[in-house]
Amino acid sequence: MAVKAAVKKKRKRTPPARSKPKAAAKTSRVKAKARGNEIEKFREQLLAERTRLEEELREIESRAARVDEFDRATELSAYEDHPADLASETFEREKDLAIGESVEHMLHKVINALEKLDRGTYGRCDACGRPIKKARLRALPFATLCLMCQARLES
Ligand SMILES: [Zn+2]
Repeated sequence: MAVKAAVKKKRKRTPPARSKPKAAAKTSRVKAKARGNEIEKFREQLLAERTRLEEELREIESRAARVDEFDRATELSAYEDHPADLASETFEREKDLAIGESVEHMLHKVINALEKLDRGTYGRCDACGRPIKKARLRALPFATLCLMCQARLES
């Protein structure tokens, strides 16, 4: 019995026919290449988005700096006769702040997705670890949550 088991073991260890693993390797290589191309496309999209958001932030910041400079030059007394101007300027500034916050929030998401790309975890949900549907990633390349976890977060 011991001999039989040893023979069985030995037979198992003999390498299988050459053609089969070669073909399998080729298929997985092709698949990996296709996946790689798609990932690269996502990376390009994310990098472009990051540049756009960074530019937007810079613009908002320089606008805020200009307004501050204007304030220092004119002092608030200049507004005393024109409270409407002050109100509209305050409104504009509040608006910029809100836009700046949402741009920063977006930028954070994009950077997070790029980090996931580098770590090789891109396309996986941060919350449940399940793969995020390709259609969702094509629509929102910066998505770090699957649709279900996102819905749960927003409810
Ligand atoms: Zn999830």
